[in-house]
Amino acid sequence: CGIVGYVGHRQALGVILGGLRRMEYRGYDSAGIAVLAGSGDLTVERKAGRLANLEAALDDAGRSGFAGTAGMGHTRWATHGAPIDRNSHPHRDAEGRVAVVHNGIIENFASLRAELEDLGVELRSDTDTETAAHLVAKAYTEGETKGDLPASVRSVCRRLEGAFTLVVTHAEQPDLVVAARRSSPLVVGVGTGETFVASDVAAFIEHTREAVELGQDQVVTITRQGYEITDFAGEPAQGKPFTVDWDL
Ligand code: GLU
Repeated sequence: CGIVGYVGHRQALGVILGGLRRMEYRGYDSAGIAVLAGSGDLTVERKAGRLANLEAALDDAGRSGFAGTAGMGHTRWATHGAPIDRNSHPHRDAEGRVAVVHNGIIENFASLRAELEDLGVELRSDTDTETAAHLVAKAYTEGETKGDLPASVRSVCRRLEGAFTLVVTHAEQPDLVVAARRSSPLVVGVGTGETFVASDVAAFIEHTREAVELGQDQVVTITRQGYEITDFAGEPAQGKPFTVDWDL
């Protein structure tokens, strides 16, 4: 129900938890985060219930395992699969290299699940979302999208039906976060040496007020230096820049 992604110069964990807290008013039943370390580690924690449950789990795990300056977070409003830890986002591929968070509904998930199962993929949740993680991992390892995370995300978006905001990270790409929008809102926050992406400006307003609203069927890649938007086909595209001039 709330999404935040970050690449910058601060520890991502604190920025992301702060962003999720700012969006708590939206309501949710589970929460999770993924942090990318420069070393190529992708660390995930997710918990059913309040953000406090996630924070307690992070404390138990020892927060030092979550060092890194890029990552993403999610608060879930379950539509497919009960609100339990296993169905909480982020979802990962079999190797745990790709992580995906999602708002909305992937309408054709049943046929995508069947296709993945035919390929021998074992799905570990009851969500529509998990299919996207496996499909991105597959696109990233083969064909013309090989090694190209934004292109892999675009190719998967072209196959998804329904309304979705997706944020995707890959362990091999610790300096970028890719997000896609079809219908559900998505806004980029442009800071100095740091960039945000979120379903609501509330998530980053304490860090920057320079924002760019994504249009329909667009994919954005954020890095420390800024952002790049394309359509689902990979053609350069424009968002709508604005300055947040209100207080929350
Ligand atoms: N359909 C997804 C799920 O049930 C995402 C729900 C949401 O928008 O939070 O896990």
